[in-house]
Amino acid sequence: MTSADKPSHVREGGHRNGEGTVKGFVRKVHSPHPSLNDSLEGDIQAFLIDDDLLHTYDDLTKVNPVTPATVLKCLQARYRVKVFYTHAGCTLVALNPFQPIPDLYTPDVMKEYHCAPQPQEFKPHIFIVAEEAYRNVQGQLEPVNQSLVVSGESGAGKTWTSRCLMKYYATVAAASSVVNSQDTVERIERRVLDSNPIMEAFGNACTLRNNNSSRFGKYIQLQLDRCQLLVGASVQTYLLEKTRVACQPVNERNFHIFYQMLKGATDEQRKEWKMPRGQHFVWLPNSEKPVEEDSFQETVLAMVHLGIKAERQRQLFRILSGILQLGNLDFSSSTDESKPCDLDEQSKDFLQRAAELLCVPAEELLMSLRVRTLKAGKQSVIKPCPRSECSMRRDCLAKVIYAQLFEWLVTFINNSIRADKATWCNFIGVLDVYGFECFQINNLEQLCINYANEKLQQHFVAHYLRAQQEEYVSEGLEWSFVKYQDNQSCLDLLEGSPVSVFSLLNEESRLNRASDEKTMKVRLEKELSDNANISWDKFSKQPHFTVAHYAGKVTYQIQGMVEKNKDPVPPELIELLQMSENALLHHIFTDKETVSPTSKGLSKVTVVSKFKNSLESLMRILHTTTPHYTRCIKPNPDCKPLTFKKEEVIMQLEACGIVETIHISAAGFPIRIPFKGFMQRYGLIAKYSHFKSGSHSVDAGAGDILRQGVENLLSVVLQHEAFDPLRKLNSVKHNSWVH
Ligand code: ADP
Ligand code: MG
Repeated sequence: MTSADKPSHVREGGHRNGEGTVKGFVRKVHSPHPSLNDSLEGDIQAFLIDDDLLHTYDDLTKVNPVTPATVLKCLQARYRVKVFYTHAGCTLVALNPFQPIPDLYTPDVMKEYHCAPQPQEFKPHIFIVAEEAYRNVQGQLEPVNQSLVVSGESGAGKTWTSRCLMKYYATVAAASSVVNSQDTVERIERRVLDSNPIMEAFGNACTLRNNNSSRFGKYIQLQLDRCQLLVGASVQTYLLEKTRVACQPVNERNFHIFYQMLKGATDEQRKEWKMPRGQHFVWLPNSEKPVEEDSFQETVLAMVHLGIKAERQRQLFRILSGILQLGNLDFSSSTDESKPCDLDEQSKDFLQRAAELLCVPAEELLMSLRVRTLKAGKQSVIKPCPRSECSMRRDCLAKVIYAQLFEWLVTFINNSIRADKATWCNFIGVLDVYGFECFQINNLEQLCINYANEKLQQHFVAHYLRAQQEEYVSEGLEWSFVKYQDNQSCLDLLEGSPVSVFSLLNEESRLNRASDEKTMKVRLEKELSDNANISWDKFSKQPHFTVAHYAGKVTYQIQGMVEKNKDPVPPELIELLQMSENALLHHIFTDKETVSPTSKGLSKVTVVSKFKNSLESLMRILHTTTPHYTRCIKPNPDCKPLTFKKEEVIMQLEACGIVETIHISAAGFPIRIPFKGFMQRYGLIAKYSHFKSGSHSVDAGAGDILRQGVENLLSVVLQHEAFDPLRKLNSVKHNSWVH
């Protein structure tokens, strides 16, 4: 194909794995933590990086030499000219433009990538990844399931990218687009796409870092039939941040759905949900903030498309409104400890409303919130709870209802979009999980999230190494891998056996005693100090521990961790909800293993064990698929369009593993120069050396002759001690690369 007949998306830059390219001539090992100011090996840098052309490098592995600083420079140059996607070997780097880019994601563009004989020749785009996965499903020998792993920090564009991938398949793999059937609500791809607004309404919230931040992880499998058509999907979710229902961080908001109801309800609905205009709800801070996602109509329409009947919706919204009323309950301390805490007049009103909406007796609701029932044998004793415990029980009630509601919703969505087992044979999975987190205060949530990222990083490294090895073998290279230091020891620290942070946390959680952070700290120190990935700051007053994650060190506070891991739900609350006459509420709290009271209290599945199990099953699935990685990068913390903050980006490059990828490629051959460029640059050596002779001619033309020229030149260099600095060059023993 000549450049004249290439479509608009064909790349201008060099080739990726293209013919006639020299991949590296210096085997260079980078320090484990290169900084921005890393010496870029002076003259090599000057030699190999042409600033004016940086934006044309569509694969970061072509930047010579590959260091965090050069990678950063290249990404910045591309961002400046509004190029948001760049390959990084087997990974795609996606910079968030923070503004709509018209014409970049239209169905026409999708079709262009889909129909191209060689989409890889097009400019880097998320559609290349999508298309590659789509073609891979068919496999050469047998079909292979695919996984698209999208990572990055909050606000980097993961959910946006996942939606974009889903739209791509809904467009190019839609059965109806082939048979051109009528656009009906029954169309499966419509339903699959409609699962997004519902899950986002219930699972996303406006945070300081992203106005539409997903507060749960998601793995969606798009199911394809024998003809590669999209026939269904299934969703698995991870670790919903349910604490947000009852406690919103300063300047953040609750889940979108509450605000959607508040803004979008009709007068009739307001009456039914007991949400009069102007009513203040404690659990709905910052409700005046305009947020794009506040579209109640869109959520309801999506519910209709998915088959959630009007009556079910009614029950659902009444429950949600009931939760909001609970938030306005305030207990006052009782002067007499033997008497339960009281409610003020206003709170009594909200209690009444909550009870009506949740369809439980108001008296029982109040009882369950302010009185604890202690069972001793066949006898039970009731004990009034102090004020703080009453509030805790109120919050707990709201959280458990919301979490179960979310779970029910996911199950409903699955039942609505899942294809019949007999009709689908392969899937493309899209993973959108929270990125690595390091805040000022980190607790169990961050520990779980960062553990998930460690797992994914390990999977990525294993896959990347294998892919590179295969590439070298196919090139005919004799190559033995430098042993790569992976993150296994950090994973051993967190989840290994016989002792690990998780096992100790679980042991502490199972002991029926008030959790004590000092004991926990002593145990961690005693049992895990052999592992180099854990440390303690001797001068810190708060009990804590610091974990050296692959992406950086994170200090976790121990206070509250064991309690969070236990995640206790007082049995009285469950019993209350089981007696609800709201059919949906009753349904989600009956026959449920996780919430049913056992003889010893509630079932003892800890948060960590549950999360570890679900992550392990995800990893098992990922291992059976061919993965494709997209690393989303947030170019500035303020979500401003076209603003590139170097410090922010370099931190993310390190945290999302691009730097790690560089390390791995540095352990291999990090530098690649086209044969032609190599000859132009070094041909001189042979010309002016007295080794210039017939047998070592370096005049070379196209293709094989060019390769012959490179070979001859290398043999000149390798024979003469005057070229000592270049003696690290290997000879050409393969098809198209010099290493
Ligand atoms: P994450 O899921 O990583 O937290 P999101 O996917 O929610 O982040 O992205 C945050 C915001 O960034 C989106 O709401 C959208 O406004 C913007 N955004 C992300 N990717 C793109 C893109 N490719 N084009 C335009 N805007 C984008
Ligand atoms: Mg998200």
